[in-house]
Amino acid sequence: MKQQLVTTMFLLLVPISVIAEVRCSGLIAPGQPHQTRWYCIDSEVSGPTVVITGGIHGDEPAGHRAADQIRDWSVRSGRMYVIPRCNIQAISIGSRRFPGIKGDEGDLNRHFARSGGETGPTSELADDLWEFIASCAPDVLLDLHEGYGFRSAGSKSVGSSIITHRDVDHEHQSRMLEHVNTQDKAPEHPFVPLRSAVNGSLVRAVAEVLRIEAHILETTTSGQPLSRRTRQHRVMVAARLDRLGMIQFGDAVDLLVADHERRRVVGIYDGPGAGGTSQGNRIESQLPGIRVERIGPSDINAGALSCFDAVIFPGGSGSAQAAAITGEGRRRIRSFVRDGGGYIGICAGSYLALHNYDWGLKLLPLDSMDRKHWRRGNALLELSLTDEGRTMLGRDGVDVMDIQFRQGPLMSPSEHPDAEELPEPIILATYNTGVGRNGADPGIMIDTPAIVAGDHGLGRVFLFSPHPEKTAGLEDLLARAINWCVPVPSAAD
Ligand SMILES: [Zn+2]
Repeated sequence: MKQQLVTTMFLLLVPISVIAEVRCSGLIAPGQPHQTRWYCIDSEVSGPTVVITGGIHGDEPAGHRAADQIRDWSVRSGRMYVIPRCNIQAISIGSRRFPGIKGDEGDLNRHFARSGGETGPTSELADDLWEFIASCAPDVLLDLHEGYGFRSAGSKSVGSSIITHRDVDHEHQSRMLEHVNTQDKAPEHPFVPLRSAVNGSLVRAVAEVLRIEAHILETTTSGQPLSRRTRQHRVMVAARLDRLGMIQFGDAVDLLVADHERRRVVGIYDGPGAGGTSQGNRIESQLPGIRVERIGPSDINAGALSCFDAVIFPGGSGSAQAAAITGEGRRRIRSFVRDGGGYIGICAGSYLALHNYDWGLKLLPLDSMDRKHWRRGNALLELSLTDEGRTMLGRDGVDVMDIQFRQGPLMSPSEHPDAEELPEPIILATYNTGVGRNGADPGIMIDTPAIVAGDHGLGRVFLFSPHPEKTAGLEDLLARAINWCVPVPSAAD
């Protein structure tokens, strides 16, 4: 049944008897340093709305990892919103607080509306999260955290507890406790109930201001593997959603990644500066099991990248692609990648990603070299694979391979000062041979990177100077690039 739901969702052919599920995603505070992604799973059947939050504290990984797993669940009634990584800046440094801010001032979970006072949220992030959560009009909010010690063993920490702010919600608290204490085989330290969430916390604010059911779920970091803690979170959340009629406990609790291959959605740019329809079709044919959509400048400028896990910018003309998507589109692509999206460039799409063009996306710290001889011609060239290249391209024991070259970029480390902030890319293959028409020196290509990959913010970038998709025997390379750019379970971890 689960399989059927997922398949249905992706084919968009919805037999009356099968539940149609709509999934969407977007950004809270787009363009801000604290921007973070939300996900919505809408059953399109009337029912409760639940918001699940993780990562309010950046040093409590089980919370945001479990939230990322839970967003793969399907719901059969109502609607589930998940904000897995509420405080992305704290998560990026593994700290409880915002970078460099001590005490309660740096603690996002002290920034929400305080009872008795007139204060609303006291930081931009708290304000942005609050606005989003309130707009979801939730019936229930579950906030996923971790403590350092076991409360039942006398620790001052709230580890292994459920903190429920309103007395009226204790029945639901008990049910979650019962599940987690039974499911976790013979827990040495059972989860215990606690009352009254701290002032300034998200849970207390939603309980008092939105007047809804809200719980803080707390696992314990010390001496327990992450898998156990994330599972405890899934058990507690599944117990509550089951009771709400949104899921079946047994279907959901062990689902960490739902049919991930199928769920990935890749956009292929096919606007001005890209090759024709056949090029897109060729690329799509090499990505079995992945949903592929074509996207153009209007989609990108209207924010449609939020539908995708990765984008492919294919061959054609990098400058023409850049001009068509405009500066605003380029800004959106950069933030898409920074936020965890994948970017795969082929030839022109790789030019587009480089540093030393006004219109370059500057995704990796690489420049285009010998720019004036870009019309150096087409040829079948030989590449040398690096160790990382053999692994990442699935070419064990292979030293060299031939590949079609169509005037793609020659890449070199960027000299631009801004590029220093970007992590160094991994070189997967270099040119062993070169081509040099129209006055170009073929020798200059030798040993320059032909295939590179690297991180950009939370996202990943994979650039092919030549054309794997036009080379017989290399048709698997694009899928491998996507597998690397959009890893399981989440690009952000
Ligand atoms: Zn916490």
